[in-house]
Amino acid sequence: MKKLQGHADSYYAASATAATSFPRLTGPVSVDVCVVGAGYTGLSTALHLAERGYKVAVVEAERVGWGASGRNGGHVGVGQRRSQADLENMLGKDTAHTMWQFSVEAVQLVEHLIEKHTIQCDLKRGIMRLAAKSSHDSDLRREVQLLQERYGYSRIRYVDRGEVRDLVGSKRYLGGQLDRGSLHLHPLSYALGLASACAASGVDLYEHSRALCYRGGSSCTVETVSGQVKARNIVLACNGYLGKLEPRLAGRIMPINNFVLATEPLSISLGKELIANDYAVQDTLFVINYWKLSGDNRLIFGGGENYTTRFPKDIPGFVRKYMLRVYPQLANIRIDYGWGGTLAITLNRLPNLGRLEPNVYYSQGYSGHGVPTATFAGKLLAEVIAGTEEHFDILAQLPAHRFPGGTLLRWPCLVLGMLYHSLLDRFGR
Ligand SMILES: Cc1cc2nc3c(=O)[nH]c(=O)nc-3n(C[C@H](O)[C@H](O)[C@H](O)COP(=O)(O)OP(=O)(O)OC[C@H]3O[C@@H](n4cnc5c(N)ncnc54)[C@H](O)[C@@H]3O)c2cc1C
Repeated sequence: MKKLQGHADSYYAASATAATSFPRLTGPVSVDVCVVGAGYTGLSTALHLAERGYKVAVVEAERVGWGASGRNGGHVGVGQRRSQADLENMLGKDTAHTMWQFSVEAVQLVEHLIEKHTIQCDLKRGIMRLAAKSSHDSDLRREVQLLQERYGYSRIRYVDRGEVRDLVGSKRYLGGQLDRGSLHLHPLSYALGLASACAASGVDLYEHSRALCYRGGSSCTVETVSGQVKARNIVLACNGYLGKLEPRLAGRIMPINNFVLATEPLSISLGKELIANDYAVQDTLFVINYWKLSGDNRLIFGGGENYTTRFPKDIPGFVRKYMLRVYPQLANIRIDYGWGGTLAITLNRLPNLGRLEPNVYYSQGYSGHGVPTATFAGKLLAEVIAGTEEHFDILAQLPAHRFPGGTLLRWPCLVLGMLYHSLLDRFGR
């Protein structure tokens, strides 16, 4: 396979179905909206704006889909990062219901875009969520009941321990949920497909064009090393890679690194032993394990994270430990790829959308649930720029807390908190 240049050394970059290439921004351009960042948030915003007739430029520091959007587990799950029961307690029943409805629409939107723009990205149906502890098993069971009875969601069912073992050849789990309304896909092919759809709709995309600074207000501009975009509106869509571009946003999110491996292609029988029905699978641990089979029958397994600015030296070895806890039978299977990516989490794990100034918008902090949520956020960003604020404002009004310690000291606080929870993964009930 020919690897796409300029991307992480991942299985996805080696197997993406399309190769896109866009110029560096040189000189000044003038548009209605400048989007900074070409992941799902930026691409979906640009696409939805272009469909409404706006002239849009997207500036991307690296390559389109270079960030988390080209590196993730590819799970497109219904629901938010927090359970509906948690959301009801945090936000009240009405807002929890709206958040649920948004999540269903978000998954439908991903499916709709893939179909509409004929994006080849191995789209498949079904996600299983498996209980690693007995308390989690009871939670999953209760959640299925809540979703069926109070939310009228009939695509999910509880799966007992025996069936889990039949469907997912691991003895580690005590029960689970099977949700046939959720999807999974090849994440980089999806991002590149969105980019092609943007280009076909008239969006100007620029790669290797990092935004160095920007100005809102009446003379709205984004400066890159070799160019400048004048715009009426700006959308910041940088998520975990925001860096120092906008300190007012940085303290609301915490970038964390998560890691993935891809095995060698497996025999058909071994693939079926690991995942009988080609579902994507994830567990309930705080440091979540998640996995699926690729189009060419490799196990794509995500496990392990860190909270520093560096990735482990041996990523395949780092993730393999987590994989073997789930599937000890893979001890002799070769690992062909290992890579990491940076995502942004928020303190309450709710997405963080809003306006910094009347014509400067942002969306970030999907907390590991960004494939559907970032795509949906892009649609809402386009709506609000076009003057329909209703749905955007529901998300913009969600509680958003700054991490304790602010931009500088949030790291040590986070590391302590994360370590505490990962210890619970090992020792809690
Ligand atoms: C390993 C991993 C596994 C994950 N698994 C899942 C999963 O299975 N399901 C799920 O729903 N979510 C998952 N996520 C989360 C999901 O990938 C993200 O939430 C989502 O991709 C965020 O999209 P985004 O467009 O906001 O950010 P990104 O895709 O990170 O894009 C941000 C872009 O902004 C660019 N940028 C940053 N600064 C600048 C600048 N100054 N100028 C120009 N460009 C800039 C970056 O180069 C980057 O390309 C995972 C994340 C990781 C890292």
